[in-house]
Amino acid sequence: MIRAAVYDSKPYTRQFFDETPGSDQADWRFIEAKLDRDSAWSAKDCQAACVFVNCVANRPVLEVLAQLGVSLIALRSAGYNNVDLDAARNLGLDVVRVPAYSPEAVAEHTLGLLLALNRRIHRAYNRVREQNFALTGLMGFNLEGKTVGVIGTGRIGKTFIELLCGFKVRVLAYDVKPDQHWAEKRGVRYVPLNELLSGSDVISLHAPLTPETHHIINAQTIDRMKNGAYLINTSRGKLIDTTPLIEALKSGKLGGVALDVYEEEENVFSRDLSDQVLQDDELARLLTFPNVLITAHQAFFTREALAQITRTTVDNVLRFASDQPYLEGTVLVEAQSQVRA
Ligand code: NAD
Repeated sequence: MIRAAVYDSKPYTRQFFDETPGSDQADWRFIEAKLDRDSAWSAKDCQAACVFVNCVANRPVLEVLAQLGVSLIALRSAGYNNVDLDAARNLGLDVVRVPAYSPEAVAEHTLGLLLALNRRIHRAYNRVREQNFALTGLMGFNLEGKTVGVIGTGRIGKTFIELLCGFKVRVLAYDVKPDQHWAEKRGVRYVPLNELLSGSDVISLHAPLTPETHHIINAQTIDRMKNGAYLINTSRGKLIDTTPLIEALKSGKLGGVALDVYEEEENVFSRDLSDQVLQDDELARLLTFPNVLITAHQAFFTREALAQITRTTVDNVLRFASDQPYLEGTVLVEAQSQVRA
């Protein structure tokens, strides 16, 4: 029976594995730590390592795993910016992922962030609990008639735009691979990035983290945005350069920012640090703005998404164990098939 180390495991991780049909055909070792150079050693005697978004699977870590006999890295996510695929290939490791799981989960959370930020629901909630029933400082704007710019129109970007339909907004989109057929049906207009930046009241990021999208939101691109624009990021933290973002909030250039992801989230998100001194000064500064709303990488976190993530991960691991071809879209590196052939 294949043994798999499941890194960054929470109680609910185990629960979803237990409930997934077929999971009893593998021996899952649930490890609370995220994968890094130290925790890599916990995969001793395992043939697979299941990793999540903030696990680090760079070359040194993959070398340790390969040395321990791990042959499969199974990502419990769609994004794979945290894995050195070249190193995996060189070390003869297969890398598989969960290509699509409930884009609705992330798109709905994005919409939730936009509505909460605009109508100051996060502030109103706290005020009313303190019996402060005043409205000053809580004014929002109608979405109707506004322009929303969406960067990245893959599964999540498209789903977000489809949710927006009921709000009677105009949608501008930017993607390196535009889907014109879909855009025509939805009344969406693809425009160059600069036009999207200067023409949008709200900008939402749904592109993956790649060398091209790293800091796609920086001092220059913020400068091109409308004064008072809102920026939402539920994609990956490193799409935004945090230092000019803070400057733009201080100056009022940006009217509001909602983040589900943060550039340096690895050491902070998914941990309870409520009794500690926050060491990340930029995150601490962001938390002081009344017009900033942050959630800790929870956009994916629905029952439906977790069930799908776990089903695909179990399937990936069992296919590897029984030498069956992986399902379409899951494979990032297939080095073991040559070794096993
Ligand atoms: P996807 O692959 O379906 O779509 C990504 C889109 O971005 C594609 O259309 C692609 O052409 C486009 N793109 C690529 N490079 C680009 C560039 N340089 N400029 C503009 N567009 C570019 O991915 P998806 O399933 O829609 O997911 C989008 C991202 O959301 C993921 O990469 C991941 O980082 C993030 N995500 C976040 C969460 C969360 O919980 N917050 C959960 C799942 C995914």
